[in-house]
Amino acid sequence: MSQPTTSLVQRGARLATPQAQLATLAAIDLSKTRHQGNFATALVANGWQTLTPTDLEIFQINVGKLCNMTCRHCHVDAGPDRIQENMNRETIDDCLRALDQTPAHTVDITGGAPELNPHFRYLVEQCVERGKHVIDRCNLTILLAPRFHDLPEWFAARGVEVVCSLPHYRQRNTDAQRGDGTFEKSIVALRRLNAVGYGQGDPQKRLTLVANPVGAFLASSNASVEQEWKAGLQKHHGVTFDRLIALNNMPIARYLEWLEESGNLQSYMELLVNSFNPGTVDGLMCRNTLSVGWDGRIFDCDFNQMLNLESRTPEGHSLHIRDFKLQDLVDRQIGVDRHCFGCTAGAGSSCGGALCM
Ligand code: SF4
Ligand code: SF4
Repeated sequence: MSQPTTSLVQRGARLATPQAQLATLAAIDLSKTRHQGNFATALVANGWQTLTPTDLEIFQINVGKLCNMTCRHCHVDAGPDRIQENMNRETIDDCLRALDQTPAHTVDITGGAPELNPHFRYLVEQCVERGKHVIDRCNLTILLAPRFHDLPEWFAARGVEVVCSLPHYRQRNTDAQRGDGTFEKSIVALRRLNAVGYGQGDPQKRLTLVANPVGAFLASSNASVEQEWKAGLQKHHGVTFDRLIALNNMPIARYLEWLEESGNLQSYMELLVNSFNPGTVDGLMCRNTLSVGWDGRIFDCDFNQMLNLESRTPEGHSLHIRDFKLQDLVDRQIGVDRHCFGCTAGAGSSCGGALCM
C-alpha cells in the first residue's frame, strides 16, 4: 500500500462524495459472485428478511473528521483540513440528553482524532459521571502532541478504555499505511499508556489494539495472531496490551480510492462477497449500536454515516439527536448496501472485533 495522502475533499477527488462512492460500488459487476453481490439477497437467503436492531448497548459518537493524520485506508476521509466538521457543545449536550434515555452501557467516542474536538474532555467527564464505560478511539500519535501529553494519566483516572489503531506490529507495514515515523510515535505513545497502568490486565485501564490489513485481503483474527502481536511488541519494544481486534478494511472513502487506483477493487469486492459468513449477522454492530454524526444526525453505524445513509423511521423520516426518541430506533430497519459485505466477510468485522471465530 502506498504512503498516506490528503483528504479526498481537499483534493476535490471524484470519490469525495458518498454518492460517488455508492455509485462506484454499485457499478462493479458482481453477477458471478454468491448472491450477485446483493447484501439484502444474502441476508434473505440465510433467513434474515431484514436487519433489525437488538437492545441498544453502545452509544457511538463521532465528534468530527478532524485528524492529525491522513491514513491511506481511512473510511472517514479525515485529515487536518477537515476543520468544518466538528461537533459543537450544543450537539454534545443533545447527545448526553439522549444517552440518559437509553439503556446503553458504553459510550464509544470516535472521529477523526476525537481528542481534537474542543469539547472532548467535557464529553468524557459527563459520560463517566453517568457511570458509562467510555471508549476513546485513539490513533496514538495524537498523544505526542504537547497539549495531549497528560491524556494517559487523565484517561487512567477515569477508567477510559483506550482503543488504538495500529495496522501492524511491524514498523514497515504500519508506516506504509499511516506514513513514515508513525510506528515509532505509536510505540512511544503505547509506552506512556503502559507507564500509567494500561495494558496490564486491569479492567479499569484496558488497552485494545485495532489491526487492519495493509493490502487487499481479509483481516486474520484468531488467538494465535493476538499471541504473535503480544510477543512481537513485548520482545522488540517492551510494550504490552490487553487485546487485539482485527478489522477488515471497508471499501469506502480513501480505501475505496486505493482499491480503484491499485486495480484491486473488483477482486476485493469479490473476496468480500464470496466470504459472506451468515454466522456474523447476529453480532453486527449496527444491531446494538447507534451512531451519531458530528452534526447530530443518527446512523446505524459509522460506515453508513460516512456514506450518508441515515437511520430512518418506518415512515421514512431521518433521525436527529436533538429530537431523540428511543422508540424510533427500536422500530427502524437497518439500511444496508454493498459495503456491508465488509462486516460479514470471513470471521466478520465490527468495532468490537471479529464476530465469529
Ligand atoms: S484512519 Fe484514523 S488516524 Fe488515520 S486519518 Fe482516519 S481517523 Fe485519522
Ligand atoms: S456497514 Fe456493517 S455495521 Fe454498518 S449497516 Fe452494514 S453490516 Fe451493519
